[in-house]
Amino acid sequence: MSSKIAADLVVKGGTALIPGVGRMRADIAVANGKIVALGENLSGETVVDASGKLTIPGIFDPHTHIGNERSFDEEAETETRAAILGGVTTIGIFIRSLQDSYLKHLPGFRKAMDEKSYVDSIFHPQLFNDEQISEIPVYVRDYGIRSFKFYMSGLPGIVNSVPDDMLLRGFRAVAAVGPDAITCVHCETGSLIAAARTALQEKPDGTLADWTLAHPPEAEALAIQTALYLAQVAGAHLYVVHLSSSDGLEVVRQARRQGLNFTVETTTTFLGINDRDPNGFLAKAVPPVRPPSHQEALWQGVAEGSINTIGTDNTSRTRGGKKPEAGLHGSRPGLPLLGTHLPALLHFGQQHDIPLETLIDGATRAPARVFGLYPRKGTIAVGSDADLVVVDLDLEKTVRAENLRGMSDFSPFEGKTLKGWPVVTIKNGVVIARDGEIVDKANGRYLLRAPQAAPNVAWIKR
Ligand SMILES: [Zn+2]
Repeated sequence: MSSKIAADLVVKGGTALIPGVGRMRADIAVANGKIVALGENLSGETVVDASGKLTIPGIFDPHTHIGNERSFDEEAETETRAAILGGVTTIGIFIRSLQDSYLKHLPGFRKAMDEKSYVDSIFHPQLFNDEQISEIPVYVRDYGIRSFKFYMSGLPGIVNSVPDDMLLRGFRAVAAVGPDAITCVHCETGSLIAAARTALQEKPDGTLADWTLAHPPEAEALAIQTALYLAQVAGAHLYVVHLSSSDGLEVVRQARRQGLNFTVETTTTFLGINDRDPNGFLAKAVPPVRPPSHQEALWQGVAEGSINTIGTDNTSRTRGGKKPEAGLHGSRPGLPLLGTHLPALLHFGQQHDIPLETLIDGATRAPARVFGLYPRKGTIAVGSDADLVVVDLDLEKTVRAENLRGMSDFSPFEGKTLKGWPVVTIKNGVVIARDGEIVDKANGRYLLRAPQAAPNVAWIKR
């Protein structure tokens, strides 16, 4: 049997973890970038020994930002290099144009991801004005885009806020794309943030813990209620990005009990770091890392399925760009996270006794389903893309930015020892990373998406 399959590569002797199916002893054969067989005693030209290890689908990080500190072109290479070393094989990028039509930028962004990236990618344009909203059908037709993002509350001086009336127009325009189109929303209510920030100005300096006062959890909870209501009015599928608080989670639970169909994401930042972190303002983020009680609540949300997907919100910075020494008000948000996403998920997830199936589902199958790439991505099945990660669950490594190979010279996990690391990353059927080193050329591609059925979170309820 096995000799009839002409495989380029076979992952041998390991245990495959297939989200929604379970764990099984199986070799995985790959030809022409696709998985062609699962079974016993398979053979292929190249053999990857996975004995004693776990093989999982390539990680799909639905939430990244590229090109916020250096150029899009440069970060398309450096940050995806960190990603592939960390077991991430597909990313969703929140592309940004504060004023201009995206039609000016999309050709260049796409070219960079086709030519320089180590991972496959999709785009979620961030919409800030009515011209961009009016062009949604063109973004859909010419770039296969089916997900968009709105900031209810922006970042002062960096990103503009979108008022509720524009949000509703935007949601309606996204809903008109089709039942699978996704409205990603940064849920925070601007007036509550503004008031909290004004009050905080009186405090000239402080610690990372004080930064949580600038973005109170009630601002997130209220904004989720508003976004859920407007999405219902518009008939749009809401995707709450980077849920950070127990207050927000409580709103999510109530809405789930009412039977609303929407998706919620959290990040390994909020699951892995809290406001007591010894790295101080190197861990400054928006929304902020919060007290441990919020972190524990988010883990509960992951375990019970209230939280569906787990991403990073990667926004790479250098120490010089981050300016931790500028303190409470002067240091900047944005964290490089792609290289530590999978190890942080495994390390902290296992500390919290979360089943591996749940952790891996939230970082592979669930985002692939929501963003229209399943079963091409997010599973190990015949016909799926051969994006595979061999994981050593017992391997312990201390995080050092220089080993992560992104452009950043720090990591918010700097100095922490994490248990559970990828040892081999296979992208499009080729071993690209092995034992923390890049061993082949980048072969990532920009992915056009086709219309799908409406996302149904019952699929991804655990
Ligand atoms: Zn983000």
